[in-house]
Amino acid sequence: MSFRRSIFWLRRDLRLEDNVALSAATRLSKEVVLVFVFDTNILDRLKDKNDRRMTAIHNALLDLDRKVRKKGSALVLLHGDPKREILEFAKRIQASAIFVNRDYEPYAKKRDKAVQTACNKLGIAFHDYKDQVIFEGNELLTQSGAAYKVFTPYKNKWLKELNACLYQDHRSQLKRLVPLKQLDKEIVGWSLKKLGFDYADLYLKVGESAAKKQLKNFLPDLPSYDKNRNYPILPNGTSRLSVHLRYGTLSIRSLVRFALTNPSLGAKTWLSELIWRDFYQMILDQFPHVVKGCFKKKYDSIKWPGTQKNFMLWCQGMTGFPLVDAAMRCFNKTGWMHNRLRMIVASFLTKDLLVDWRKGEDWFARNLLDFDLAANNGGWQWCASTGCDAQPYFRIFNPISQSEKFDPEGNFIKNFIPELKNFSKKQIHWPHVANQEIQEKVNCILGKDYPKPIVTHSEQRIKFLNLFKSF
Ligand SMILES: Cc1cc2nc3c(=O)[nH]c(=O)nc-3n(C[C@H](O)[C@H](O)[C@H](O)COP(=O)(O)OP(=O)(O)OC[C@H]3O[C@@H](n4cnc5c(N)ncnc54)[C@H](O)[C@@H]3O)c2cc1C
Repeated sequence: MSFRRSIFWLRRDLRLEDNVALSAATRLSKEVVLVFVFDTNILDRLKDKNDRRMTAIHNALLDLDRKVRKKGSALVLLHGDPKREILEFAKRIQASAIFVNRDYEPYAKKRDKAVQTACNKLGIAFHDYKDQVIFEGNELLTQSGAAYKVFTPYKNKWLKELNACLYQDHRSQLKRLVPLKQLDKEIVGWSLKKLGFDYADLYLKVGESAAKKQLKNFLPDLPSYDKNRNYPILPNGTSRLSVHLRYGTLSIRSLVRFALTNPSLGAKTWLSELIWRDFYQMILDQFPHVVKGCFKKKYDSIKWPGTQKNFMLWCQGMTGFPLVDAAMRCFNKTGWMHNRLRMIVASFLTKDLLVDWRKGEDWFARNLLDFDLAANNGGWQWCASTGCDAQPYFRIFNPISQSEKFDPEGNFIKNFIPELKNFSKKQIHWPHVANQEIQEKVNCILGKDYPKPIVTHSEQRIKFLNLFKSF
């Protein structure tokens, strides 16, 4: 046993099962204290006091605390600057080690470096582990020793290098959690109100228990993933596990284990999506300039001519393009959006409305329940054609044919734009061709009950091509 008492500092890993740092902490320490810090450097920047993410995290922590209490311990919650809070706490409870799982976002890397340096000075051990991904930033390199910039060769290398150790289950010895009676003085109930936030309605439940339920719900549909994944109307067409991967209420290794033991094409395709996740984490880690600028730096000098007015109409789902509007209204209502719809609305904002991708990225970052800097930035730059291995700039989604293809019955549109519900399945994708008589019959006057299109796709397409051609 190396340490008498250690801290396991939870961040993006709000679970007890299959957790690398927690497993190591309980293996190497006589007693382990679980701590989460409400980081004021992050919370103070959240403008919306109704932010769904706060409710989600709070729920996940409550779920965790309930589980930990069943083991006779409790979760300690701190509030403030994490560097100061965690070190003061370590001194107070005389912990001789801090265990964490690594996080690859620039702020987190800087924070952990500062904590590690301070720990070194105080003689406290700082142990960090890979948990969030299968391969970290610099673990997979090209033959010339560079980071990959193209997905397919990265994926091939990922699959070639994969071995069972990389996705093994890391169990913890929870009997080593410090007894509750020793923590009495440290337990402060941080309600959301006390933190300055309100409870928000959550469309997706968050927490380790909810994650397990969602996974169980999805697994029977995994074999059909390759066929169903592009249809937003299908409830289990995709796993809807992104929220759980974001907060770490499920381990990525457990998902890889499920994917590998299922021989279907669906499982193979799904594994590929999990590899995209690793790919974008690697890109963020190795090319941190993407946080502020284009992956391909030459595109930084583009002057995007799109207007604030059109951007706002896009945010509100009032562009007159039914599937785009339905997707944005769904997003505003639930905080979640299907991948096909994310691609369609991002393409529409950048290539039809000619608005800088960073504005859309920021709107998603502020509102997505599963917001993940690496995946969001990667997704936006892919759609805007400014990213690594992005969609070629001359490939521009037609929002109407995308709608006909991926919402053929128009049911997704009807769910979120009820004013269009009486249009036929043929006309609902582009109701603007309906004459006055039809509009009256279906009880939807265009320009009054539903907006007329704010741009003409064919004209905007040419403008976008000209904008990019010069580069
Ligand atoms: C513009 C845009 C923004 C996006 N922003 C985010 C974001 O903030 N957070 C986020 O988790 N994903 C983001 N994605 C990727 C993808 O849309 C979501 O991961 C997916 O819709 C989540 O649904 P799911 O869990 O049902 O996915 P599934 O299809 O079941 O896939 C399983 C898991 O694989 C990962 N994954 C799937 N597709 C991608 C992808 N293209 N890139 C990276 N990882 C992927 C996710 O972790 C997902 O949960 C974005 C995509 C685009 C085009």
